[in-house]
Amino acid sequence: MKNIKRIISILAAAAVILPVVSCAGDPTSVDDGNFNIVTSFYPMQILTMNVAGGIDGVTVNCMSAPDIGCIHDHVFTTEDLRLVENADVYVENGLELESFNDRLLTAYPELTIVEASSSVTDAPRDGEEVNGHVWTSIDDYMIQVMTVSDALSEADPEHASQYSSNAQIYIEKLEDLANRYDDVLAGLEGRGVLVLDESLPSFCVYAGMDYITIETDHEQSALSAGDMREVIEYMNANDVELIFAGADTDSDIAEAVASETGAVIYTLNTCISGDVDADSYITQMEENLELLGSAG
Ligand SMILES: [Zn+2]
Repeated sequence: MKNIKRIISILAAAAVILPVVSCAGDPTSVDDGNFNIVTSFYPMQILTMNVAGGIDGVTVNCMSAPDIGCIHDHVFTTEDLRLVENADVYVENGLELESFNDRLLTAYPELTIVEASSSVTDAPRDGEEVNGHVWTSIDDYMIQVMTVSDALSEADPEHASQYSSNAQIYIEKLEDLANRYDDVLAGLEGRGVLVLDESLPSFCVYAGMDYITIETDHEQSALSAGDMREVIEYMNANDVELIFAGADTDSDIAEAVASETGAVIYTLNTCISGDVDADSYITQMEENLELLGSAG
């Protein structure tokens, strides 16, 4: 059933209006004859390398280094933004992660922006605030892949069949990854978890877990004793036995909560930085799969 649901959601993503804000390139940029794609940050870089890599006349570059961590904490300089000067298309995650976009659009009002998350409908919410870190859900990531492929095909019809076949190959690899997750997800479904990195609620949605979060910005800031007590009481009352942390999580908090609740800490790869290699998302999610094998 899972596969059918996935395929339906991907078709639905493909059917909606393409998220191309503008189809005109920046008239002031120098046309070097290539179709130049610039991505905002690491997860979008890896995704786009898979969709648009290895095509003659198409380049993929990233505006930020692969080790900056999450883009929503990043303050771009005018110099950084100038990297998109010769871009024909700019690929972003969207869902409010790229908060510097107003500066980008001021500098390049004609820039074609592809929002990879435009068809994602189950992004976690905290009140009014949307949590845009959706790529840790393999389902949502596949929707992003199809959205980027469709948008690039529209913006660059000359290479449409190559984008489409690259995307298909990548989707097949991701389906295989998702299938390998099935057993682990069956063990996690309905379980309670405390999440300490804001890239991980989407993974919990994907896994059908009952998650609670402590307000985080990747690196956990100070938590009041009262907040901590409340979380510990909730976890003990509701048998929350798992803690998901990211590489940047303050281990003191994770360990303090674990010692009061007996919960087990899993430090997961949030796929937010790493090697610039087309297979990185898959290898990083495989690390998590191996780690979570013991949690099910
Ligand atoms: Zn973030």
